[in-house]
Amino acid sequence: MENLIFPTPEIIPSEGELREEVRAFVRTELPGYTAEERTYSWNAYDAAFAQKLGRRGWIGMTWPKKYGGHERTSLERYIVTEELLAAGAPLGFCWVADRQSGPLMLRYGSEVQRQRFLPLISAGECSFCIGMSEPDAGSDLSAVRTRAIRVEGGYRVNGRKIWTSNAHLSEYLILFCRTADKNPDDRHAGFSQLIVRLKTPGITIRPINYMNGEHRWNEVTFDDVLIEEGMLIGKEGDGWSQLTSELAFERSGPDRILSSFTLVLQLLQAFHGSKDSKVTQAIGKMTAHLVILRALSRSVAGMLQSGSSPVLQASVVKDLGTTFEQSIVEIARELLSMEPLRLGGSTLSTVLANSIMLAPGYSIRGGAREVLRSIIARGLGVR
Ligand SMILES: Cc1cc2nc3c(=O)[nH]c(=O)nc-3n(C[C@H](O)[C@H](O)[C@H](O)COP(=O)(O)OP(=O)(O)OC[C@H]3O[C@@H](n4cnc5c(N)ncnc54)[C@H](O)[C@@H]3O)c2cc1C
Repeated sequence: MENLIFPTPEIIPSEGELREEVRAFVRTELPGYTAEERTYSWNAYDAAFAQKLGRRGWIGMTWPKKYGGHERTSLERYIVTEELLAAGAPLGFCWVADRQSGPLMLRYGSEVQRQRFLPLISAGECSFCIGMSEPDAGSDLSAVRTRAIRVEGGYRVNGRKIWTSNAHLSEYLILFCRTADKNPDDRHAGFSQLIVRLKTPGITIRPINYMNGEHRWNEVTFDDVLIEEGMLIGKEGDGWSQLTSELAFERSGPDRILSSFTLVLQLLQAFHGSKDSKVTQAIGKMTAHLVILRALSRSVAGMLQSGSSPVLQASVVKDLGTTFEQSIVEIARELLSMEPLRLGGSTLSTVLANSIMLAPGYSIRGGAREVLRSIIARGLGVR
């Protein structure tokens, strides 16, 4: 267990003040935002809200000032993010860029890329989505077949991505693709990451609907697409190790704990003052789990701040966090004697219905449960 250490992060003296600042901002900027809308949180896309966050200095918080960042700590970012997520704020426009595309460019991108993209991202004016999964390559991204070939003027790309959240609304996609033939001795060799403008000729974006009928996912096809020079992130062929460190950002944050938080708040409101032991036990257990998960997730933020890449700990947080998020829906179903109704019901029944339909994806997006457990087992040396 030596390598599964979660160090206690430093204390932020201004934590209370910062939390209050975010709460006041949310009260002012989202006065009529309903509980139903809040269930979508970092999936809900709102460009104007992202620009307001940008003006407050809450995107790219940890990045250098010369790239439009604010040189605050990862723990301060954690506090702001946690408050925004707990409030169910619509973070979709800036979420992927702030959480992972920006940090990826900061770590591996060229100086030109940093100067071009980071200031726009931190102003809430440029959105990114993730182009990793393919029809036959989800858990095992080494099976990715989308191919980029070096040509004069850049790369020529052919292939197909699926489950690409918000591709129809985003300006750019970070493409994970093959830039060399398969190497039978090293299945992780020959991959690269490219920045792709989604309006480039040859790209087609088609909707894939959620089971509740909403359009959030897409299929993105590349048909002889020319990606201009200068869009390769890092070194050609280093895509796999870059991707692995990107996933530490994707897997560890409060977004992997708080997806059902609007339902938690609704439950607390519905059962306020209840003396029913079934209710008090369920709420006590839920609260205890949340407290522990926050401590673990915060510890990962501290590790990211110190420059390490805590892939193992991030996988633990995501696995436990998404199990918790899904368990809330089950707890709610046990405690409430009501039908979940997406339309025409009470606020609680709509929040419940939305949460039921969104929850199955929590343990799949960003890495499926079984796969995370394999990473954990390998990290612990038991596999
Ligand atoms: C809400 C949501 C949003 C998403 N957004 C994006 C996005 O924006 N961009 C993007 O690129 N992708 C996105 N995805 C796709 C997501 O990353 C993949 O669905 C996920 O990685 C699983 O891949 P798959 O769907 O191909 O399933 P598969 O890999 O086929 O897995 C199917 C099942 O088999 C299990 N399994 C697979 N391999 C193993 C193994 N070796 N050992 C044990 N069990 C195994 C899995 O755990 C899973 O239960 C999103 C998914 C969801 C649900």
